[in-house]
Amino acid sequence: MTQNANSTGTAKISTFVTAATYITLILALIAIGVGIAAFYENPSNSEITIWLLVIGFIALAMSGYYMFQSRKHVSSLKLETPQIQTAIDCKACNGVQTRPFKRGDYVYKEMEPCPKCNSMGMIVAIYREVKEKEKPVNV
Ligand SMILES: [Zn+2]
Repeated sequence: MTQNANSTGTAKISTFVTAATYITLILALIAIGVGIAAFYENPSNSEITIWLLVIGFIALAMSGYYMFQSRKHVSSLKLETPQIQTAIDCKACNGVQTRPFKRGDYVYKEMEPCPKCNSMGMIVAIYREVKEKEKPVNV
């Protein structure tokens, strides 16, 4: 319940962060550009140039870091493809056989060919395969 609200909230925040990251990137490039322009216009007043370059590069590094982080997050989401399994109770095999989920599968569906011996069985379960893989820890 709270998890659902949380995930939508995170999605909204990440969209906001992405927009803010692009704005920061543009402002950083403007700051660097203005800094260099100010130096060419008045080389004696290099203090402004140095400050603009420092601010620009910090902002550039921050936005680059956020972009790298969000891209890593997206790629990790793409890798996670849920594998739905259908379990068929087969009398001939005397056991439950599983195969990947197909459209039209439902629990208690009879006359379903067994994936092993092809005789008719009944779907007893449809579930998502849980991979026993360690999830990356979000810091
Ligand atoms: Zn069978």
